[in-house]
Amino acid sequence: MDISVVIPLYNEEESLGELFAWIKKVMDTHGFSYEVIFVNDGSTDRSWQVIEQLHQEYSQVHGIKFRRNYGKSPALFCGFSAAHGDVVITMDADLQDSPDEIPELYRMIMEDGYDLVSGFKQNRKQGDPLSKTIPTKLFNATARKVSGIKNLHDFNCGLKSYRREVVKNIEVYGEMHRYIPYLAKNAGFDKIGEKPVHHQARKFGKSKFMGWNRFVNGYLDLLTLWFLNSFGLKPMHVFGFVGTLMFIIGFLSAFFLGGYKIYCLTTGTPHPLVTSSPHFYIALTMMILGTQLFVAGFLGELISRNSALRNNYQIEKEL
Ligand code: UDP
Ligand code: MG
Repeated sequence: MDISVVIPLYNEEESLGELFAWIKKVMDTHGFSYEVIFVNDGSTDRSWQVIEQLHQEYSQVHGIKFRRNYGKSPALFCGFSAAHGDVVITMDADLQDSPDEIPELYRMIMEDGYDLVSGFKQNRKQGDPLSKTIPTKLFNATARKVSGIKNLHDFNCGLKSYRREVVKNIEVYGEMHRYIPYLAKNAGFDKIGEKPVHHQARKFGKSKFMGWNRFVNGYLDLLTLWFLNSFGLKPMHVFGFVGTLMFIIGFLSAFFLGGYKIYCLTTGTPHPLVTSSPHFYIALTMMILGTQLFVAGFLGELISRNSALRNNYQIEKEL
């Protein structure tokens, strides 16, 4: 099979029929063999009935139905594990992404050798409020910096294409769908490209991602990914290092304070109490914090040693 299209959706009943018809038209024109996997993320409207109907009519349509709303990332994850195509394409269900981009996205994977091609939404202004576009710019700049994927302008575009191995080897959970290129890079798939894609305003319904808390969560997720990638398998290297440094600074300060006090006592020079010097408290805090960090490092090591993923390495080829 050439292409699997994975479509996560939450209450998008009005769009589904039109979206599938459009995808079908594009696929038939180019003669692709394909499947469309609709992942119904706990919709409360008639979305599932529409999918069932489409499935009865067209053998290419498949559906996965969640019992409740889990979020876009879990929906993608389950869609990915069900996909069979050589190239997997993800797309939002709201008709904002154009199926006309599919052939070129497919070609870039198969011919140009990209592992992942991310869409770059053009002419967004019409659809989105300023409260969404400005934070998005900031978000993308940070994601570029932290991930080191310098050529992406739009991490969170729903329209992306992947080589099959990529989706089978990444774990999209929580709200990590915003960072799939980074997940792919961490898994060793670093030929990541971008294609400007046509984007239009939502035709039916409302956006499911509104409000500011998504940016706070987004940054925390990015921090998590960065930490996991840098130190996930060796937590002691970060905690132990910082802990040791702090402990040494604290210990030396305390040592000098004590030494000075003894020196004063033996020579009979007048001297204040050790506890009246601010350095004493700094030294104390440093030593306590240092020890705590060290313990955190040990605990981290114990946890990672028990993790089911500890020996999960990406093997590209075997002979
Ligand atoms: N979506 C989902 N589960 C959710 C929220 C959204 O499957 O909990 C789907 C939604 O139906 C759509 C896609 O994710 O197909 C993108 O959502 P939306 O268009 O609301 O986001 P925006 O385009 O506003 O960023
Ligand atoms: Mg949308």
